[in-house]
Amino acid sequence: MGVNIEKVFGEYVFDDSVMKVRLPKSDYEKVKTLMHEGGEITEELADVVAQAMKEWALEKGATHFTHVFQPYVITVGAEKHDSFVSVPQDGKIENTFTGKDLLMGEPDASSFPSGGLRATCSARGYTAWDITSPVYIKENTLYIPTAFCSYTGESLDTKTPLLKAMHAVSKQGVRLMRLFGDETTRRIYSYVGPEQEYFLIDREKYLKRPDLIYSGRTLFGAVPPKGQEMDDQYFSSINPRVKAFMDDLNVKLWKLGITVKTQHCEVAPGQYEVAPIFSVSNVALDNNLLVMDLLKKTAQEHGLVCLLHEKPFDGINGSGKHNNWSLTTDDGINLFKPGKEPENNKLFQLVLACTMAAVDRHAVLLRLAASNTGNDHRLGANEAPPAIISMYLGDQIGDIVDQIIKNGKATTSLSSGILDFGIKKLPKLEKDPTDRNRTSPFAFTGNRFEFRMVASSNTIGETNIVLNSMMAEAFCEACDALEGADDFDKAVEEYTAKLMREHARIVFNGNGYSEEWPVEAEKRGLPNCHSIVDAIPTLLDESTVKMYEKFNILSKAELEARKEILFEQYAGVRNIEALTMVDMANKMIIPAVVKYTKKLADTVIAVKEAGVDATVQTEILSDVSSKLSEIKTAVKNLEEITDTASAIEDSQTMAQEYKNNVMAAMAELRKPTDELEVIMPKDVWPMPTYGDLIFEL
Ligand code: ADP
Ligand code: MG
Repeated sequence: MGVNIEKVFGEYVFDDSVMKVRLPKSDYEKVKTLMHEGGEITEELADVVAQAMKEWALEKGATHFTHVFQPYVITVGAEKHDSFVSVPQDGKIENTFTGKDLLMGEPDASSFPSGGLRATCSARGYTAWDITSPVYIKENTLYIPTAFCSYTGESLDTKTPLLKAMHAVSKQGVRLMRLFGDETTRRIYSYVGPEQEYFLIDREKYLKRPDLIYSGRTLFGAVPPKGQEMDDQYFSSINPRVKAFMDDLNVKLWKLGITVKTQHCEVAPGQYEVAPIFSVSNVALDNNLLVMDLLKKTAQEHGLVCLLHEKPFDGINGSGKHNNWSLTTDDGINLFKPGKEPENNKLFQLVLACTMAAVDRHAVLLRLAASNTGNDHRLGANEAPPAIISMYLGDQIGDIVDQIIKNGKATTSLSSGILDFGIKKLPKLEKDPTDRNRTSPFAFTGNRFEFRMVASSNTIGETNIVLNSMMAEAFCEACDALEGADDFDKAVEEYTAKLMREHARIVFNGNGYSEEWPVEAEKRGLPNCHSIVDAIPTLLDESTVKMYEKFNILSKAELEARKEILFEQYAGVRNIEALTMVDMANKMIIPAVVKYTKKLADTVIAVKEAGVDATVQTEILSDVSSKLSEIKTAVKNLEEITDTASAIEDSQTMAQEYKNNVMAAMAELRKPTDELEVIMPKDVWPMPTYGDLIFEL
């Protein structure tokens, strides 16, 4: 039996309905105003809220509270729990939780990546309550979403710049609305609906794979006889064990006020997707981290392991996170909605032109924000977008842009039409004006853009910092150009056409997976960074620094720190992978093969002694031994190269060394090992194979 969603939804969230009942009316009003309009919360008000929160939390069985935050690059929430315990008076304690506890925390920040922004001797970091994201209870602990910064005020997390970017796009967006005569809009919300892909495998098998344990992906493994080539997994009926897991996960997430809506089997065997209904960006960010956390924990309870890595298995699809993004006024006008007559919707056309300009200018920054080390294996592969950023607009909007570019304005629009199945009993359906293009990294889907490049294990925060900042910049420029124009209608038309002409190269409606596209993209001058390592330096490009500093989102020092952290992160991940391969080769693979060669040698002798021809046995022994020798050489080589790389001082040079030479040495070790796996008997291979992992649940 399922649950009644209406009854359980938000059970563990200190949401509006709880506040309304538990806070004095005037305080409730004040909190609501602060949530929507910002401003400073007084300690008195914080005390009242904290008291109500504490009572509510105690009734729900909470013993602890924590500020939860997202240190830059670490994509799980960081949390340090404090209990409600106070100093005993006459042997008795009282549960305490004050306004100050709610407002501010001071975790020791020295052990989080800081890229040189902070030394261990100046370790202080502060967390501050993000009043716009709801407080909730999980595992007997009251969670308070927060922003995190250093003693000197530099942001050390993803949340802070995201909130600033949301503020910037709202402010510039309101300016833009005013240009069009709108007097009522007070803010622009940036919404996100992240679709989360993941793999599930059996936990017992997982525990036999050190590569999955340490690096989240398989570092060895031959492709099984069957992969995804039959297209029989996508949307297929859900395996009962997986369904039980999903049911459990959904209830937990609903209780936390997360609107998980869709779930289905994905393209690769063992791969699935879950998506909530879209929400305001910072809440979507917090919620997505919770989704990732509970995916992992719930899987464990079901004897499963959830792999969030972008490419856990070679040869089949990897996982991504589609960031569906839109900008909407507080009156509910979606700026990306073309409406019934897009040819006459000048606001939409200008917003679209601004988006084209923004995506074109900050393409590498977008590519970087969506990336992590794991995504290097995915971008450009099956079902993943290529590493080149381009925009898909579809027939209808693509045609509007073509008309504007050609004639300075659009006069007609292609209609979507009616879909007629040709069977009387089936309804006739109105079609969407755009088809889907699965090969585009940045696709217009009718009322939003779907940015499909984001890494499955990444935070969506970085992506939405870029999206909202680049739009703030483009809106600001448009307002600067158009405010005070004598003939506004004419000026808008000209400005829109100018931007569309200048940035036409970013639109690509064709097949992003085709071999011709990179060639064509190069002709157009579009950047194509194959690795995150090539994209990182863009953080300090003049265009990046200028944009972030203009809107006070990130300072140059913060960007420098982020660059440093990303290089170190890349090298760190590759180093773990290399060491894991060496370890597995030395401790598992080589011993198993040595044992097998002994068995084969014994067989050869025994067969010969029996007076029979042992050619086949000898051949197998010789094949296996020669692969074993290749493995031995490759292990030694990988060890040496990794050693050299890890000793490099400069982080960028170090990352490059890992990307080029260490990765090549890893591939050299993997090749003979995978070849051996194919020819060795199943019972002597020392770990579960791809087939065992992805087909047997
Ligand atoms: P798809 O068919 O693309 O796989 P899904 O239903 O899996 O679509 O996910 C689409 C996501 O886009 C959902 O999270 C949905 O709530 C979100 N979404 C829908 N409309 C908007 C919008 N205007 N702004 C942002 N996200 C949206
Ligand atoms: Mg989907």
